[in-house]
Amino acid sequence: MMEQYNEMKAQYPDAILFFRLGDFYEMFGDDAVEAANLLEITLTSRNKKAENPVPMCGVPHHSATDYIKRLVEAGRKVAVCEQMEDPKQTKGMVKREVVRVVTPGTILEEDAIPTKENNYLAACYYATNKYYLTFIDVSTGEIQLTHTDDWTQFINELQTVAPTEIAIAKHQEDLEAVKQTQETVKAYYSFFEQPEQTETQIAWELSNASEDEGNLLNFLFAYLYSIQKQALNHVKPVHRYELSQFLQMNHYAKVQLELTRSLRTQKRKGSLLWLIDRTKTAMGGRLLHQWLEKPLLRMEPLVTRHQKVEQLMNHYFERVDLMVSLSKIYDLERLVTKISLGSANARDVDQLRYSLGQIPLINQLLTQINQELDGVSSEIFELLPTFEALHQLIDEVLVDEPGISITEGNIIKTGYNEELDRYHDALANGQQWLAELQMRERELTGLKTLKVGYNKVFGYYIEISRLQAAQLEDDRYIRKQTLANNERFITEELKEMETTILSAQEKSVDLEYRLFVELRNKINELISPLQYLASQVAELDVLCNFATVSETEGYVRADLTTTNKDIYLKDSRHPAVEKLIGQAAFVPNDLTVTPGQSLLLLTGPNMSGKSTYMRQVAFCVILNQIGCFVPAREARLPLIDQIFTRIGSADDISSGQSTFMVEMMETNYAISQATERSLLLFDELGRGTATFDGIALAEAILYHIANKVRAATIFSTHFHELTELDEKIPTMKNVHVGATEHEGEVVFLHKILDGPADKSYGIHVAKLAGLPQTLLDHSQTTLTELESNAYRLRHPDAEQMSLFDQVVVAEPLPEKVNQLDENTQQVLNELEKIDINRMTP
Ligand code: ADP
Repeated sequence: MMEQYNEMKAQYPDAILFFRLGDFYEMFGDDAVEAANLLEITLTSRNKKAENPVPMCGVPHHSATDYIKRLVEAGRKVAVCEQMEDPKQTKGMVKREVVRVVTPGTILEEDAIPTKENNYLAACYYATNKYYLTFIDVSTGEIQLTHTDDWTQFINELQTVAPTEIAIAKHQEDLEAVKQTQETVKAYYSFFEQPEQTETQIAWELSNASEDEGNLLNFLFAYLYSIQKQALNHVKPVHRYELSQFLQMNHYAKVQLELTRSLRTQKRKGSLLWLIDRTKTAMGGRLLHQWLEKPLLRMEPLVTRHQKVEQLMNHYFERVDLMVSLSKIYDLERLVTKISLGSANARDVDQLRYSLGQIPLINQLLTQINQELDGVSSEIFELLPTFEALHQLIDEVLVDEPGISITEGNIIKTGYNEELDRYHDALANGQQWLAELQMRERELTGLKTLKVGYNKVFGYYIEISRLQAAQLEDDRYIRKQTLANNERFITEELKEMETTILSAQEKSVDLEYRLFVELRNKINELISPLQYLASQVAELDVLCNFATVSETEGYVRADLTTTNKDIYLKDSRHPAVEKLIGQAAFVPNDLTVTPGQSLLLLTGPNMSGKSTYMRQVAFCVILNQIGCFVPAREARLPLIDQIFTRIGSADDISSGQSTFMVEMMETNYAISQATERSLLLFDELGRGTATFDGIALAEAILYHIANKVRAATIFSTHFHELTELDEKIPTMKNVHVGATEHEGEVVFLHKILDGPADKSYGIHVAKLAGLPQTLLDHSQTTLTELESNAYRLRHPDAEQMSLFDQVVVAEPLPEKVNQLDENTQQVLNELEKIDINRMTP
């Protein structure tokens, strides 16, 4: 057996091998050590007495799913090896085979993936200066493909897709690009060698596929086949997209804006996605996530989304009813997958029936919503396909509220199949007959407590107490089993009936199973129309979601401008901060950007709301371009093609690069990629280096943006020196966050006002933080000095003279120090050591 095991294991060296032995899956060797540790199960060993006992552990086969799930979640592959023959009917070794491999990117086990998330398996191909990416969600059948010749964009997209597993051809494993991918994108990497003669059995559809695209898709499906060992018929046609079709954001921006994940917890909770997610279906939840990652860049589909949201807002009651119906729809996408893979049970089909049952009402509501307020009927919402025939069929076949199992009967309705009804009758009659037999035997024997019973091992029996049995003289009774108090008997008559009943039982269970599979196969023929229905439901769900959020949170539909690039927001808010502190406490702010005034230099104290302001502008743009309304009183927005941000303190330490280096790299990428239609948000750029360095760089970057890039830009800074640039850069405007002092305390107004900030209030913030007064006094002195020095530096011809300048100018040091006498030398040395900034007056 170990020989057979080793043979199997050799074929799947990177997977933990679940080796079926009777009722258990056993693991051996290193697999066992690792699995026992991860699963917290007991590690034993085979041949304990041998010199080198083999470590071993096992899990019961009926609870294997859970263990497999845990191993895969821990980032392992599991190869499931089954017994392919009945051990009772085989001599010698039972034949075994690996029937499937479960990997992070392909796991379909119940509850293994969160319902509102996609689980992607990606495959990458690196051609010369061209990078191809395809990714599939096996649980929904959705597959996409794109390529780019920009490395940063490729990595960005891969990070956005966030696949749990990435498959790469074995022969590309050593490429530098692959190594870089591995360093940047966290996922399970599978290096797979595609067999020459691939038996994929999966045909993909993609019009005008290039050779590279075709090869990559073939590779992906070959890999899938190698682990799933079955054809996937539910895979949808490949959806090819260009990255430039959508609003581009650098990955850093998405992370910092906490678009789909909270920075702190890395979970959905706390992100913008979480904040605006009121979807009722799993499909809707997944689609909302996808839309948020890919805001639109084309006017037409975007306007359609806005119109639909508005229409839904105008029909409050219908929308509420619609959402109630939507909430009753199960995860159609994943149900359909299960049906296609033949793993759907009776309850799954019941859920499909229940979901289809909602459609008539939804269509009725959509018809009502299609009525404009003025009574004119539009066709803004397409009605859903109804699947009446399928719904009726399932209803004829399947009992109400069936159990999960499809091999124990009780799933098919009476009246659907005559043969089955006959078995059911026989069973029912059999029960009747048994009841009568019990009465008859009681009379014959005179024993009132005699009863007819059944158990799985011995079948039907007549039971009487041992005392009664001792006195019983009836040669029809054949002893079958003796218990502590009772004796069990059988009669010829009972035995005959038993055969009839049991065979009816067996036949009916068997027939029910066959009828169920027949039904499942019929549904399977409707896979793609059902997938279409699922996508329609998802979209409707997301649009209702937008309407609800926009209504409850007071968002407004933006005026989409195509003719100019003006950005205008009146009383815009930050959706998350406003949620946190309450709408009443949040100070709304305006924004006006025009080509003549496209660069805003934002100054203001720490903690006053600079980054909040920049974030809310980004959110307004993103929400607008996914079809939602925006948190503002009035909004006029163009279609922004790219957003680049450097907001908030970064934790790039983990990636091994210094924050400043990353900042400069991102800045470089931003200013080289941005167009006049882009939005740049820079938060305190240049603060990571020495002050003069920082100012110099920031100034140069501002000039570059104003002259070359001309993108809408908000640039926040603590370098007050930069505010003077507005005289030299015509498109630059100073704005600041207001603050006032009240009885010596600083009060933040959170209001964006025209002009530069007059003070930094850094020391005030330090005071708020509770630093000692002597320390604060010290820093105030230093600040005053530094400010006068800095002023002098930037204004060399200014009137004000420094005390020290006089000394230097009046008495320059002698050129040759050795001419000085020893005393002078000593004094000079002492003076050198002095740090005036650290002296008391
Ligand atoms: P900065 O970037 O200037 O250091 P932040 O944008 O991080 O400051 O804002 C600091 C805090 O101020 C926020 O966490 C929030 O509680 C509050 N805040 C910011 N903007 C507003 C606003 N417009 N209205 C009310 N509170 C605000």
